Amino acid sequence: MTVLIPLVIKIVSPVVGMELGIILSVDGKMSFQVKSVFMASRFNFLVLCSLWFSASMAQVPLPVPVNIRAAMDKGTRTASGQPGTRYWQNGADYSIQVRFDPVTRLVSGRETIVYINNSPDTLRQLLFKLYPNLYKKGVMRMMSLKPEDVTDGVTVSNVLIEGTATPVGSVRGTDMGVRAAATGPGQRLHVSLDFSYTLNKTSHVRTGQVDSGSFFVAYFFPRIAVYDDVDGWNRNPYLGSQEFYNDFCNFNVEVTVPGDYAVWGTGDLVNRHEVFSAVCNQRIDAAESGDGVVTVIDSVDLARRDYIHHADSNTWKFQARDVTDFVFAVSNHYLWKSSSLVVDPMTRRRTRVDAVFNPVHKDFYEVVDFARKTVEGMSYKFPAWPYPYAHETVFDGLDQMEYPMMVNDNPLDRREDAIELTDHEIFHTMFPFYMGINETKYAWMDEGWASIGEWIISPMIDTSIVDEYGVGPYAASSGKEIDQPIITLSTHEVGESYFLNSYAKPAMGYYYAKDLLGDSLFFKGLHKYIADWHGKHPIPLDFFGSMNVGSGRNLNWFWKKWFYEDGYTDLGIKEVRGGQVVIINKGGKPLPVDLKVEFADGTVKKIHRSVGVWEKGNTEVVVPVGSGKAIKKISLGSTYTPDSFMKDNVWVGK
Ligand SMILES: [Zn+2]
Repeated sequence: MTVLIPLVIKIVSPVVGMELGIILSVDGKMSFQVKSVFMASRFNFLVLCSLWFSASMAQVPLPVPVNIRAAMDKGTRTASGQPGTRYWQNGADYSIQVRFDPVTRLVSGRETIVYINNSPDTLRQLLFKLYPNLYKKGVMRMMSLKPEDVTDGVTVSNVLIEGTATPVGSVRGTDMGVRAAATGPGQRLHVSLDFSYTLNKTSHVRTGQVDSGSFFVAYFFPRIAVYDDVDGWNRNPYLGSQEFYNDFCNFNVEVTVPGDYAVWGTGDLVNRHEVFSAVCNQRIDAAESGDGVVTVIDSVDLARRDYIHHADSNTWKFQARDVTDFVFAVSNHYLWKSSSLVVDPMTRRRTRVDAVFNPVHKDFYEVVDFARKTVEGMSYKFPAWPYPYAHETVFDGLDQMEYPMMVNDNPLDRREDAIELTDHEIFHTMFPFYMGINETKYAWMDEGWASIGEWIISPMIDTSIVDEYGVGPYAASSGKEIDQPIITLSTHEVGESYFLNSYAKPAMGYYYAKDLLGDSLFFKGLHKYIADWHGKHPIPLDFFGSMNVGSGRNLNWFWKKWFYEDGYTDLGIKEVRGGQVVIINKGGKPLPVDLKVEFADGTVKKIHRSVGVWEKGNTEVVVPVGSGKAIKKISLGSTYTPDSFMKDNVWVGK
């Protein structure tokens, strides 16, 4: 998702001698306000410089926590980042029949689960996640809710395990334990249960009512928590801020709603000829086979109300394989624009993209184009991997949140914000969904990619966009107490620490690695990571190792400096002598060097050095600017360099 916390950070910029207010608005986009002008004192750089090493960092090992070492010893993980020969993960087949009442907002249903224990352990209990318990009274959560949205949580009943009636287990927050028949390695367990809860009307945390006739229903079914090789059961509660960790499962879901409501969901709608009119189905066929944009449900259809099969209620049947979640959205008054494109030239496989939206939200008329260009950019340019799913549906909701094949996005006034939001959320398809990231612990392993994804793809959609999401806040907070190492578990971060470490900081790490390696080696590393780990649960060392092995370059010195260590982001121009400029790294964090050299004769030269210039642990680098011409001015920095002290970034000749 993109961050929704309203947050005002004041920074003092000694460079320009101004107080800058950086405002993270509710849609997660930044704006800057110059509030007042005053002079500030310099930092004591000598003290801060002593924080970082001068020894060469090349070939250094990365820290291996003892629980990860234990997984390596057991052969499920490897030191080089590939899945171990004994790697395993559990999974399940879910058959869910759910009914949603738009008037009472009651979500109720029954599910049957066939759970597969691929672990070497015998399981004697099951841990369920009841995510809607975020709204249950008395439950711990990271945000306030309106009193009318606080509920009794999820009711679970009629639990059968292997056909035997089983008591509902103890519920703590979003976790429910259930005693189960001993399930040995390789065995399957059959579970069925009834569930119900009332969907929130307001207090929209990723799910809930959008308007009187539109609803986004996510996290609605009780699901078995991940049991993995590192932590066993995932006992991290869902508190509303940290995101999710789910196993890859197959879903057969039947959604029953009143007859005037349409349903969109994860996976394939396998009975669309039973629920949509013949005309609608022809338009879907056209959208799925051609490159043009088709309006599947237009304003005339909405007025006539003849696009859905007439009945008191309809049951919409979806199937999805090997996905980490299933969500659905319903509306009785939304337009639907759709298109498709070839995402895999080898197989000619196509992905359908949809925008489903309230006709009054003007930005959404273009969202299908933004979505199409995002899927195209992802498939062919970055990360240059064929889009893995059959469709991507952007639903006009009240949040900024990703799901497998679905996105819940709020309307926005500014076109560039709508572009950046659309491509950010769709980019999540790769991380955390195609790659089964544990977002709860390692938010940077998915949000960092969505951030660099929007930086790179937004200008492909509109060349005038310079997307610098998160760069300013990091420059403002770099090196302060709240600026923790990226590798800090997301479960141990809140507020701005969580935001910095999940979004811009890791995105810069990926961006600098791409610059250092060059696209050819970078994509070799990234594609090895994707090829080895898609459909699995990679952890940080799996990523770093895969990049090293795939690219053929050991970047541990950089991973360690950027993702594990402290320090701050500050380069400066120390001196200019004899056609050379000396750049000093005051904060210790490896940053690229971008120089704009303006000569007295009016010519301009741009010089770029990747973060590789800091590999030896040096604190200075000498860059020849040459040509013997008189230099008028030298400026240091670039869009994606979050320099925290800009006053020493400009040199002016005498
Ligand atoms: Zn995100």
